[in-house]
Amino acid sequence: MTIDWSYSNARLYESCPRSLFYHYWQRTGANDDSEAADEQILYGQPGVGAVIGTAIHTALGEHISRWSRGEQTGLEIVRQVARDYIHEVFNNNSTVVSDATPESLVHTSDAHIGRFFRVIWPQFRDHRYILHEENCSFEVGSTKVWVRPDLCARDSGNFVITDWKSRQPAIFEDPSLQLRVYALWGHQQFEPDIDRISVQLVFTSDGRIERQSVEKEDLAQLNDRIAGDVLKWGDPNDRTNFPTDESFEKCSNCPYLHSCNAGQTTVTEGK
Ligand code: SF4
Repeated sequence: MTIDWSYSNARLYESCPRSLFYHYWQRTGANDDSEAADEQILYGQPGVGAVIGTAIHTALGEHISRWSRGEQTGLEIVRQVARDYIHEVFNNNSTVVSDATPESLVHTSDAHIGRFFRVIWPQFRDHRYILHEENCSFEVGSTKVWVRPDLCARDSGNFVITDWKSRQPAIFEDPSLQLRVYALWGHQQFEPDIDRISVQLVFTSDGRIERQSVEKEDLAQLNDRIAGDVLKWGDPNDRTNFPTDESFEKCSNCPYLHSCNAGQTTVTEGK
């Protein structure tokens, strides 16, 4: 018995191995084996930033869906999706965003989406749609690996994989690893010529596009890394494979704090 590999699982383990243990069993208990569908369960994201990020992702996802079906879409439709999401969060759970107003979050998401249509989307609208926000799995040796790319498209024959970012990556994130996993998946499933695969981060905060080149050696290293990670994680029944790595900042933001004695002690003692 092993844990499927995903970028978010690898991040959890690197941040605190025990959090991957809790995460795995929580998802297994929920009978949901889609390891890539957990992007919300990440450290450092609760609160205003997470609400804005999810609002923007939800709105851009709706835009891409409409575009892929040839339906009407555009700035105001997409902004409204984000506004509706933000108001729903405030109506359902005001404690998440205690010191913010819906208007301030709407102001920010409006600005991101306006920038998306002004600066970013003109560079995508002639692409040929392939898929977006689908949980996709592939095999590395005997390990199942999950990805959930924000958008895959063809541009002049190149296979382009894009991840929308509404903020700068946090210190414990490794967007370069995330993009290499996308490239490995694209290479296995869609495009045998690695030189025709393009992976990129697109920042709605300033309209920047960061492209990353991926070489065959990178993918070989990634294969080794995935196999090594799954070996290191071992049997998810064995808690000792997943030691705690507590700190006040991590534990106080950890979604599994309620299950974790070591984390609770750390938060209580304010270490
Ligand atoms: S509460 Fe702290 S020690 Fe426990 S799983 Fe979370 S980050 Fe790790």
